[in-house]
Amino acid sequence: MNNKNLEEIRKQILNTVQEFITREVKPIASKLDEKDSYPSSLIDQMAEMGLFGITIDEKYGGLGLDYSTYAMIFEELSKGWMSITGPIGTHSILSYAIQKYGTEDQKIKWLPKLASGEKRGGLALTEPGSGSDVASIKTEAKKQNGNYIINGNKLFITNGKNGDVFFLLAKTDPKIAPKHRGITGFIAEKGNGFTSGKDLNKMGYRGVDTTELIFQDYKINKENVLGKVEGQGFYQVMDALETGRINIAARAVGVATGAFESAIKYAQERKTFGKKISERQTIQNYLADMGTKIHAARLMTYDAAKKKDSGGRFDLESGMAKLFASEICREVTFDAMRIFGGYGFIKDLPIERYYRDAPLMIIGEGTSEIQRLIIARNLLKKYS
Ligand SMILES: Cc1cc2nc3c(=O)[nH]c(=O)nc-3n(C[C@H](O)[C@H](O)[C@H](O)COP(=O)(O)OP(=O)(O)OC[C@H]3O[C@@H](n4cnc5c(N)ncnc54)[C@H](O)[C@@H]3O)c2cc1C
Repeated sequence: MNNKNLEEIRKQILNTVQEFITREVKPIASKLDEKDSYPSSLIDQMAEMGLFGITIDEKYGGLGLDYSTYAMIFEELSKGWMSITGPIGTHSILSYAIQKYGTEDQKIKWLPKLASGEKRGGLALTEPGSGSDVASIKTEAKKQNGNYIINGNKLFITNGKNGDVFFLLAKTDPKIAPKHRGITGFIAEKGNGFTSGKDLNKMGYRGVDTTELIFQDYKINKENVLGKVEGQGFYQVMDALETGRINIAARAVGVATGAFESAIKYAQERKTFGKKISERQTIQNYLADMGTKIHAARLMTYDAAKKKDSGGRFDLESGMAKLFASEICREVTFDAMRIFGGYGFIKDLPIERYYRDAPLMIIGEGTSEIQRLIIARNLLKKYS
């Protein structure tokens, strides 16, 4: 795709997404959030728009778009309701991993179905005993007659109930040192001893399923080892998570922008002591800081996406973007609530939803503390 075509397609898809948010999402988001209801019809419409295959190659049925467009789409969706990015978020990490590390047979088998949304995917790393410390997972895959039997539990898995197929990490060699070298990536489909468990009741990011996954003597064919190589799962996932960090940073920019746009409008309507609150310098200072933080976070997110588009690893830029965007999202959503006064605290307006959704971005795809470790490691290497 040449640059002119890409610009045109990007414009078209962003317009379509914006219309979808205004017409379909905003009117029902708060109600679905309150009831914690899965937004099936919205997700089906997103599949029709091709959003399950944004970065999947056209030859496998995807839109074949770049990560800059991917970031912009996640931002637009999150301005409306961040939860609807859930079903396509870790789904796109699985798709990325198959497209990059899968064999041609694996790509042909999975990518067209993932691109259309016929199969919905996710990422199964976290366990009850280990989240940040991925290398300490306990789920084990034992060889049996050339194939594998997997036992273990995963926790906090987005799309756990509604998803069909997951990028699963399991230990094929629990004794090897360092530990991460014993981890293998599987393309794991439900059935044969793989089920979902409890759907967790969350403070934000509601409507989307986040569940336990249970593997009880789960039989999986050796054809489902990602790339058909053992011991590569940790490296494959660390690479794939860089794209996940772009999507989380973009979600944070979107949520912060949604809250900011509501607050700046309200500030120009609400009067106290005979004047609009937007005429008060204190409120102007809040607005100025919020706008500046969002602008910086957006530039960092687009810069990380651009680095991805130009090839190679970019964990420094994606880590910085994810850390900064998620932290300013928490600050901006709080300040937006402050500007709304008492109205910011009640559920009639979406402002409290933005505030409850913001912390997920600090946790998902590596917490802020873990991003700082990654950033510092890269900076120390760069300046050694
Ligand atoms: C709504 C939701 C959806 C999620 N979706 C998925 C999913 O789809 N797939 C998936 O695999 N996981 C998913 N997760 C899990 C998420 O990735 C983990 O919760 C996250 O990585 C943190 O792991 P933990 O909860 O085990 O916290 P821990 O790793 O136990 O960390 C606890 C605290 O200690 C800090 N900490 C840990 N290690 C260090 C260190 N070395 N130095 C300094 N501080 C440290 C952490 O930053 C954190 O503040 C989801 C979580 C949530 C809440």
